[in-house]
Amino acid sequence: MSASSSWRARASCAQPAYEGRRDMWFAPIDSPDAAEAKQVCAGCPVRQACLTAVMAEEGAANRHDRHGIRAGLTGRERRRLYERYRRADAEQDQHAKAAA
Ligand code: SF4
Repeated sequence: MSASSSWRARASCAQPAYEGRRDMWFAPIDSPDAAEAKQVCAGCPVRQACLTAVMAEEGAANRHDRHGIRAGLTGRERRRLYERYRRADAEQDQHAKAAA
């Protein structure tokens, strides 16, 4: 089993309790199902690995191309987080150039 598939097997959303309920991760954002999905993500043991994977997969995609709730975040929330990371990287580059 690869490192990537091992964390996916431990994901809360991959457990039998959610078999047949996986649509809730793609429910309308303001629905009770979406709130439940976020709650499940909040307690997921592999949330950080999930977040790292989804940020790498989605890259600079706009919020409309970020589907469903992943790592407890909506597409809009993941887009905002991406922008925060991007700004932090840019600041780091500026500091590195200034120090050189
Ligand atoms: S954080 Fe949420 S979407 Fe990610 S693996 Fe866990 S339950 Fe699934």
